[in-house]
Amino acid sequence: MRAVLDHIGIAVRNLDEALAFYRDALGLHVEAPEEVAAQRVRAHFVPVGESNIELLEATASDSAIAKYIEKRGPGIHHITLRVEDIRAALVQLKSRGVRLVDEQPRPGAEGALVAFIHPSAAHGVLVELKEKPAQAIDLRPQRFPLGKLRLTSVNDGLFRLDGGAMFGVVPRPLWAKKAPPDDRNRIVLAMRPLVVEAEWGRMIIDCGVGDKMDAKSADIYALDRRRHLDHALADAGLSAESFDSVLATHLHFDHFGGATTRDARGAVVPRFPRATYFIRRGEWHDATHTHERNRASYLPDDFVPLDKAGVVGFYDADHEVQRGVRVVRTGGHTGQHQIVFLESEGQTAVFTADLIPTTAHVQDPWIMGYDLFPMDTLTFKKRFIRDAIEREFLIFFEHDPFVAAGYIREKDGKRSVEQVL
Ligand SMILES: [Zn+2]
Ligand SMILES: [Zn+2]
Repeated sequence: MRAVLDHIGIAVRNLDEALAFYRDALGLHVEAPEEVAAQRVRAHFVPVGESNIELLEATASDSAIAKYIEKRGPGIHHITLRVEDIRAALVQLKSRGVRLVDEQPRPGAEGALVAFIHPSAAHGVLVELKEKPAQAIDLRPQRFPLGKLRLTSVNDGLFRLDGGAMFGVVPRPLWAKKAPPDDRNRIVLAMRPLVVEAEWGRMIIDCGVGDKMDAKSADIYALDRRRHLDHALADAGLSAESFDSVLATHLHFDHFGGATTRDARGAVVPRFPRATYFIRRGEWHDATHTHERNRASYLPDDFVPLDKAGVVGFYDADHEVQRGVRVVRTGGHTGQHQIVFLESEGQTAVFTADLIPTTAHVQDPWIMGYDLFPMDTLTFKKRFIRDAIEREFLIFFEHDPFVAAGYIREKDGKRSVEQVL
């Protein structure tokens, strides 16, 4: 096995005192802190050559770092070795009887995979193995001209959902290879709305989760909005005020929470002040008449205030919402879930929302356990993916952390995605 020293983690009791040494006395550059909410720790990276010192500060008294300091005082907490193939490394260690904390790799910061070796096996040192992602999560806006339409994929940060629920009947050993779960069985997902600009104006399709989520839910969903929609719009030179319309694929909170926001007085108001919000009437009905199976996904504050503000444009059926922007009901995920066809000058792109949320879902039976009518999903999906392959639709994957858009290819019966954005 080949390994390089990635970083040394140092548990510090008091960050200001630590900075007085590492930054002021040693004169090292200290990067802005990274908050790891799940572990209740704040990490400050100090680059030293090709490795880093990581200053770890507890943000709560029950954090592992706080307990470590309580027991042993501040000091070296762990060392991290970067390996090329973390699974192979774990197999090798296991075959030699080395005691592991993690038998399977789990997701770490910035899309890396990590696993800990037990200190008793490593002569008193907690050793972390880390495999850098082949592909970093890139949340910068990405443009794609499609005939006369200008498309820009933007994002509202990352969150996590239960891996089992994301893949329905697919057994964990199959999906875990494509989307490694964390210690709570969750996988990382992105929220990627799509901006469409044309001679008729500017539209955003879905708008992410927004900023209204409470702390408890934010923990359950590991909400990570260090980079969110406002950043993405600013990077693309756009502002919420500049949108004429908002189009909802459906009203689940991870797609439409960003439709509203709280004003200075705490009242929930439309997030895009000039926009008309296009919502399918059937979906509105379902979202306002929930049952035990879908209630957790529909949060009234995401959409009811829009109707009160008189800014909803209701419609009943599949149609062209704006020139080149056509909604098509898929059903399946929700009874009225729809995808959006973008068509201009003979080219077609499709924003597939929760029909094909990630590139892993391009296999027909990889259907979310969340879907209310999975057989409807299957019927629609089989026909749609056949078309998408034959007619080379550019597919936008709203929840994929790595691939914003690509072409679905099929060779010898095996499907893959050729990444474009
Ligand atoms: Zn959904
Ligand atoms: Zn979703």
